[in-house]
Amino acid sequence: MTNTLFDALLKKGRENPGRRFALLPDGRKFSYGDVETVSARFANVLTDLGLRPGDRVAVQVEKSIEALMLYLATVRAGGVFLPLNTAYTPAEIEYFLTDAGPRIFVCDPKKREQLAPIAEKAGAAIETLGFRSSTDGSASSLSEKVLSADETFATVARDPEDLAAILYTSGTTGRSKGAMLSHANLLSNAKVLQETWGFTEKDELLHALPIFHTHGLFVASNTVTIAGGGLIFLPKFDPDAVFEYLPQATSMMGVPTFYTRLLADERLNRELTAHMRLFTSGSAPLLAETHRAFETATGQRILERYGMTETNMNTSNPYEGERRAGTVGFPLEGTELRIADPESGKILPRGEIGVIEVKGPNVFAGYWQMPEKTASEFRDDGFFITGDLGFVDADGYVTIVGRGKDLVITGGYNVYPKEVELVIDELPGVVESAVIGVPHKDFGEGVVGCVVAKEPLEEEAVIAALKDKLARFKQPKRIVFVDELPRNTMGKVQKNVLREEYKDLLG
Ligand code: ATP
Ligand code: MG
Repeated sequence: MTNTLFDALLKKGRENPGRRFALLPDGRKFSYGDVETVSARFANVLTDLGLRPGDRVAVQVEKSIEALMLYLATVRAGGVFLPLNTAYTPAEIEYFLTDAGPRIFVCDPKKREQLAPIAEKAGAAIETLGFRSSTDGSASSLSEKVLSADETFATVARDPEDLAAILYTSGTTGRSKGAMLSHANLLSNAKVLQETWGFTEKDELLHALPIFHTHGLFVASNTVTIAGGGLIFLPKFDPDAVFEYLPQATSMMGVPTFYTRLLADERLNRELTAHMRLFTSGSAPLLAETHRAFETATGQRILERYGMTETNMNTSNPYEGERRAGTVGFPLEGTELRIADPESGKILPRGEIGVIEVKGPNVFAGYWQMPEKTASEFRDDGFFITGDLGFVDADGYVTIVGRGKDLVITGGYNVYPKEVELVIDELPGVVESAVIGVPHKDFGEGVVGCVVAKEPLEEEAVIAALKDKLARFKQPKRIVFVDELPRNTMGKVQKNVLREEYKDLLG
């Protein structure tokens, strides 16, 4: 009788319980033996609170090692972990709790009063978890219970197909959907990433990502745990802390904004990073320019990979071999990837742009309580339609050109925003850009470029500079200058925000 995910993740750690699992910036150390006992304590508390196999545990708390233990404990007790972005407002929490119907909802002690009626309405028992709050008088109910709980627990058996987590998508293109992830989904991806990226018990991963998202929770934490390695577990991305702990790390996983922020810091240099084995990037496109600038500054070639909440990771640039800037590499072992015509589903020849479709043990079990949406996002032969547009080049590298929902169709022609953005970004004085389609009375949609400039630029001059570089239908009809692009916590540009803002620009 095994618990598919928990037992596999902890296998290495059980062989070496003295190995440090996490180093915390307050100096606390946490061994694999502690993972065993602390997750047992949490699992006992959850079970005492009435958690039964298959029940959801919804969690909106600040990042902490205890929150990570709560994840492992939920899986260990047979539950389904459901993390929520710390930025979500009470109204948003109400949607998630009503949708997911968790048995237990764990929130920040400071938010308890506000969220208790919402939890009650959704039928969830409310608990709190937060460690910094012990000084401001608001005690954390779960930590008190955990302190007096037993440190052994009979792990609940779970099959590969049983759910381990429901993660809501980031909501970049619309309302977040709950992706149901099975034990086998998470385990297969942890294994393949560990092998592909060469993680071992010798690794120390600098972990500065949030743990409510697939990147920080699964890609980072599961991959290191299954390898029996260590985490340098920072509460958030803070350049000072990153520079302090880099010397002790072997690897770091980041979103593109981590790298642009490190590049803007004069402390970044070759000596500081020379010992590092691996830097990875994902969750949003890494500009080829950032890739090159990071290599110039450090000698390190960032390894970019591609995934999504629904599928875990799909592709990765090679660990050994050429990491090609601007691409997301090859399909991971066991994952099939193809490019299809978005409408007809016809499979397209190599080199052509279409929607990326994937199939494999990494692909989720469907959207929570959305059977129709689930059915419409899968082809009859089991491939999941990611909604991302891309192509596979002659060497097999996958390039993402944008999301289907961001495609601009102007006068019947398709414009891939990324292509226009790359040309705009090359212009002197431009930091970055986002190209969107907004309503246009003659063309249906017209192309608009939103530009972040580092020096004063004229709209006409930018438009003129693009004239001989892009076909006429791809040329922006207007350029607007913005101080920064709207991004969510994972560094994703929120084009829907820009589309809304400029919807009347072309009349
Ligand atoms: P929603 O589905 O709710 O609109 P979302 O798609 O942003 O939100 P996530 O599952 O967090 O939610 O993000 C997955 C998406 O992130 C992918 O579909 C892809 O568009 C983008 N992405 C991830 N990695 C990369 C990458 N390396 N390059 C480009 N895009 C990436
Ligand atoms: Mg998505």
